Amino acid sequence: MTGNLQMAVQQSSPRTNRTVPTQENDLAIDADNVHVTYDDGTEAVRGVSLDVAEGEFLGFLGPNGAGKTTTIRTLVTLLYPTEGSVSINGYDTTTEPQAVRESIGYMAQETSIDLELTPRENLRIACEMYGVPSDERNERIETLLDLVDLHDVADKRAETFSGGMQKRLDTATVLVHRPPVVFLDEPTTGLDPEARLRVWDYFEKINSRGTTVFLTTQYLEEADRLCDRVAVLEDGQIIAEGTPESLKDTVGRDTLTVAFEQPTDRQKRRVIEAVRAVQTLDDATVESTPSGLAVHAPDVTRAATSVFEVLTDADVAISAFDVDSPTLDDIFLSLTGDDESAAVESEIDSTRAATQEVPR
Ligand code: ATP
Repeated sequence: MTGNLQMAVQQSSPRTNRTVPTQENDLAIDADNVHVTYDDGTEAVRGVSLDVAEGEFLGFLGPNGAGKTTTIRTLVTLLYPTEGSVSINGYDTTTEPQAVRESIGYMAQETSIDLELTPRENLRIACEMYGVPSDERNERIETLLDLVDLHDVADKRAETFSGGMQKRLDTATVLVHRPPVVFLDEPTTGLDPEARLRVWDYFEKINSRGTTVFLTTQYLEEADRLCDRVAVLEDGQIIAEGTPESLKDTVGRDTLTVAFEQPTDRQKRRVIEAVRAVQTLDDATVESTPSGLAVHAPDVTRAATSVFEVLTDADVAISAFDVDSPTLDDIFLSLTGDDESAAVESEIDSTRAATQEVPR
């Protein structure tokens, strides 16, 4: 993990107590075997199927070039599927694109706000564009300014704002027509950890009001903190799908690391043999470390009790211990085998994204 990533993980806790929508809910997004091939033959999306329930927060994870932007642009009708079908809020993206557009909010990677205008002016223009009734506009604008915490600077030009403030304003502009589904394409790329945390709070607020959120991201801790479910994309195909917790469970194991006071090789060998002999640790792996031992187990809390009993019996003094749980980074790396894909600092090729065209 990079420094930034670690910092963000420490400052936020994984999402808990969430109600994952059940299949009885209506589908906000229904993509069936979607393929997108560009004119030059690049098969950017190869058979993606997705069901996203109303009110769900879905994270769409993938390394650079995996096909996230192509997928999201297809879902929001900016690209047509070469094969397969997409329905958003019950409307088909190919035959009813206008109805789809009116029922969604889409935040692209590049901010679309006018920096020479103030937040209030930007929101007024968005209200006009989305056809918000004129007698409702003032109230909507004030509510959104409150939501994104920009009331104090509502009449200042946005060019003076930080990247995080501009992103918050950008997200507010895609919500003026109260869309039931919002698509966010790597919304926090380039933001510092503090700005990212504020934007995350805002996304949580939107989702807690019932809005379905589809978020593409390369930041694994972002998905961990925000999403009910994540789908991992690589080379245009979904290679894993589930709640962040269930994905961690599939490949991850907790690790208990124990350091002994002035350990000798003999002492370590003796203790490790004793720990390996404990029956309750049948499903654990025990290994020697320079200062003691490490135990990898599915339930390390249970394992810890046995390990500490063995150490007490062997009269070994503990100088330190640490428990480490798997993160989405571990899952991501084990699935994609790509070290760079988990890097926080990866840059977006915005030039290429800005020149995408509708493929035939
Ligand atoms: P990033 O995180 O870098 O934005 P991504 O996961 O969003 O990546 P896409 O931008 O969808 O990935 O790109 C998927 C593949 O399609 C890549 O191989 C990319 O080079 C290719 N691609 C994207 N846009 C075009 C285009 N307009 N014409 C041809 N190929 C394209």
